[in-house]
Amino acid sequence: SIVVTGATGHLGRLAVESLVRRGVPADRVVALGRNVSRLADLEARGVVVSAADYDDPASLRTAFAGAEKLLFVSGSEVGRRGAQHHNVVAAAREAGVGLVAYTSIVKADTSGLLLAAEHLATERELDASGLPYVLLRNGWYLENYTSQLATYLQHGVLGSAGDGRVSAAARADYAEAAAAVLTAEGHAGRVYELGSAPFSMTDLAAEVARQSGRDVGYTDLPVEKYTEILVGAGVPEPYAAVLADADRGLSLGDLYVEGDDLRALIGREPTSLAEAVRAALPAAR
Ligand code: NDP
Repeated sequence: SIVVTGATGHLGRLAVESLVRRGVPADRVVALGRNVSRLADLEARGVVVSAADYDDPASLRTAFAGAEKLLFVSGSEVGRRGAQHHNVVAAAREAGVGLVAYTSIVKADTSGLLLAAEHLATERELDASGLPYVLLRNGWYLENYTSQLATYLQHGVLGSAGDGRVSAAARADYAEAAAAVLTAEGHAGRVYELGSAPFSMTDLAAEVARQSGRDVGYTDLPVEKYTEILVGAGVPEPYAAVLADADRGLSLGDLYVEGDDLRALIGREPTSLAEAVRAALPAAR
């Protein structure tokens, strides 16, 4: 079977759907998460659903039993992922999984992003485990921006990204790339740096302005000021700091992807910024 962690989240769900679309029989796909009530519709379509918690090694051992391949979607509890991901790798090794595809972050080995540390540690654990693995070093999601369109229309785009460019791509395209890797041979040992056409925050503001007909600009702020604004907008303090730090890294090129691994894996042009804004704009007005 092909086991997908984080299937109760956005990316994992899209990957499960992509695997089934690619012809993997639903009963050969196992969807995991803690909150499995979110998986009822997939279960109704024949996907095997099982509860697993990165903090609970026994649950992982049970869920991975018999897995030929594992899509290991990185956890969302920043700061706790070191121990959690250690548990995932250990359980995968015990289960003798034939291939682990891990969703890491672009340039994990050289990135200065605070977020990159846990990813790099996980990459190193995978390497030390002796398991065959492939690294899906995902770039930023376009949805990180398109989910903010209503705010952009009201306040413009704010950030600390300077003139840096981000190679953001749609979650669905990263999911498609993961499914492609899991349904073909020859990916073990590969490291993919995944992202789409790069844009700056000024480009982002200009695209939103162009499509909405509103006056939307980009205001660059010091990291501390941007963190304060995020906290004021309701983002929990530690996560606000991580997000502002990601913008700082963006300004230095840490979220810029060279090459076209994503296009090569999915066999078509990834969704563009313009397309993503067009799809999200009606709901944001
Ligand atoms: P979501 O927050 O939608 O999904 C996160 C998934 O991780 C959920 O299915 C959640 O399951 C699961 N998860 C978290 N903690 C645990 C745990 N302790 N045990 C088991 N499962 C756990 O994130 P996305 O799908 O949007 O993104 C996937 C991952 O990509 C994120 O988790 C994060 O690592 C990373 N990310 C990347 C971004 C980018 O721009 N590239 C932006 C944000 C995150 P449940 O809650 O049911 O337990």
